[in-house]
Amino acid sequence: MNDQNIITISCLTKFYKGSDKPAVDDISFNIKQGEVFGLLGPNGAGKSTIINILCGLLTPTNGQVTIHNLILGKNNYKIKELIGVVPQDIALYPSLTAMENLIILGKIYGLKGKDLSNRIYELLTMFGLEKSKDRRISYFSGGMKRRMNLIAGIIHNPKILFLDEPTVGIDVQSKKVILDNLREINKLGTTIIYTSHLMEEVQKICTRIAFIDEGKIIAEGIPSELIKSDPAFFNLEDVYLKLTGKKLRD
Ligand code: ADP
Ligand code: MG
Repeated sequence: MNDQNIITISCLTKFYKGSDKPAVDDISFNIKQGEVFGLLGPNGAGKSTIINILCGLLTPTNGQVTIHNLILGKNNYKIKELIGVVPQDIALYPSLTAMENLIILGKIYGLKGKDLSNRIYELLTMFGLEKSKDRRISYFSGGMKRRMNLIAGIIHNPKILFLDEPTVGIDVQSKKVILDNLREINKLGTTIIYTSHLMEEVQKICTRIAFIDEGKIIAEGIPSELIKSDPAFFNLEDVYLKLTGKKLRD
C-alpha cells in the first residue's frame, strides 16, 4: 500500500437526489493503517454520508475511493470482507435474542460451528453481555443495544472498522465499555474510522481527526497538535469555534 494509506479518498462529492447543495463537497483525505481516525462535525455536516459511501452503502456523485488498494465500486465484494460497519441506527432483529442475531450474522460472513460459537462468546464477554445472550434485543437498554450493534460490526474480525456515532444517547458505563474495547480492537490491528459530534470522546480515542462542516473538511490533524496550535485553545471545541464561529452542539 502506498505510504501505508489503507484508505484514499479523492475529490469525493455527493448530491442527494433533488438537492442542489452537496452533502459532501469535493473532499480528499487519506487514512493510514492502524489509525483511529475521527470525523468530527455538527449534525448535518456530512459525516454519515461519508461513512456510508466508504462502506459501499451509498454511491458518490463524484470522486474515487480505494480501500486496501481496491477500488470502491469495482471490487466491492472483496472490500466487504475487509470492512466492518457499525451504523448510526441500530441494525439488529429486535424480536430475536442476542445469540440468534449473532448466529445469523456470523453465518452471513461464512463463520460456523465451534469457530462461530467461540467468537460469539468471546465478544459477548468482552462487551459484558454474556448473561443477556438469550434475551430478545427489544428488551435491551439503549446502551446494551449499542454494545450489540458494535459486536455485530466486528463478528468477522474486520481489518477496517467504520463506526457512525457509536455512543449516542447511552449510559456512562456502556460508553466506557465501548471506548475501552475499541482501543483494544485497534491495538490488535484494526484501523478505525469513527464519526462523532462529541469532542471529548474524539479527543480521548482518535489518533487523527478531520473537522467536517457543511460537507467540507475545514481542518485535519492530531488532536493534541491542533490544540497546541494556538495558546488560546484548551480543547477541540475551541479549535472548532475559531474555525467556524459555531459551537458543536449536542
Ligand atoms: P451528519 O451525519 O454529519 O449528521 P449527514 O451525512 O447525515 O450528516 O447529512 C448531510 C446532509 O445531507 C444534511 O444536510 C442532510 O439533511 C442531507 N441528507 C442526509 N441524508 C439524506 C437523504 N437520504 N436524502 C436527502 N438529503 C439527505
Ligand atoms: Mg450522522
